[in-house]
Amino acid sequence: MATLDPSHRAAFEAAKGFMPLDEGLALHAAAGDAAARLPGLPLLEVGTYCGRSTILLAAAARAARTVAVTVDHHRGSEEQQPGWEYHDKELVDPEVGLMDTLPTFRRTLHAAGLEDDVIAVAGRSPQVAAVWGRPVALVFIDGGHTDEHATADYEGWAPHVAPDGLLVVHDVFPDPADGGQAPYRVYRRALDSGAFTEVSVTRSLRVLRRTGPGI
Ligand code: SAH
Ligand code: MG
Repeated sequence: MATLDPSHRAAFEAAKGFMPLDEGLALHAAAGDAAARLPGLPLLEVGTYCGRSTILLAAAARAARTVAVTVDHHRGSEEQQPGWEYHDKELVDPEVGLMDTLPTFRRTLHAAGLEDDVIAVAGRSPQVAAVWGRPVALVFIDGGHTDEHATADYEGWAPHVAPDGLLVVHDVFPDPADGGQAPYRVYRRALDSGAFTEVSVTRSLRVLRRTGPGI
């Protein structure tokens, strides 16, 4: 299994975000595996936020001489807005009065020394997916957690996962007492489609492999 360079691990641990270390190491391992098995294909993340998980995809991309693409409108999810549980007031742009995670994301990648390994797309996931034109080695879904957003992420991006590529879903909680159900429903849908087979479970991080055609 690919190991995470100590400097990248330190940058990951210092970054703002919502990816615990154990799940992050599983994501990094999946990214390294997909990038090595499918040379030349990019790794794609939905839900950049401040770049914490992006570091992991970027490190794996660098090792395999490919690139990580990360998509976010950078205005935050519902639960990150002012007054909500996951709001961080340091991330509000005082001039426009809205969340803007793009500057912090740029600092995170700079600190990690991984700017050259990432293409950041500032936009809405379904719009980016609709103009995306090539297969990817791995899709990591960690964007909006409403059914509307999680479903659109799945429908937009799952078809772009190359045969034998990986679909990784974060925040999968089979028990509603542990968290919202939208990522779990997306995970179930991927398995029930017959197109994906489960590879690993690390708490709420689920890694699936594309083993069939229909999505
Ligand atoms: N992966 C990050 C956490 C992502 S939080 C980490 O490791 O810390 C979820 C992110 O998804 C937020 O930054 C939010 O702006 C973004 N997001 C939510 N819905 C989106 C959509 N429809 N299109 C693009 N980005 C979206
Ligand atoms: Mg998450």
